[in-house]
Amino acid sequence: MTSLDKNQIQTLIGLVTTTQPDQLNCDDCFGQIAEFAEYALEDRELTEGMKIVQQHLSQCPCCKGEYEALLDAMQELTA
Ligand SMILES: [Zn+2]
Repeated sequence: MTSLDKNQIQTLIGLVTTTQPDQLNCDDCFGQIAEFAEYALEDRELTEGMKIVQQHLSQCPCCKGEYEALLDAMQELTA
């Protein structure tokens, strides 16, 4: 077996570093959940700020639970 060449190592590093860091803490996320839910309900294109919220939600079960509860409540209101 040959060891990894330089390009393969670069590719591997690229795969690791393209995983975006979570840029929000939970307090910041809670403050924007309602707005994010509106985007989701209206199927609007996410702004950069909303993408950061989405990123946090994908990594934080706590905020995701809050978000899903809010989304349910909003869907009932608009139903
Ligand atoms: Zn959170």
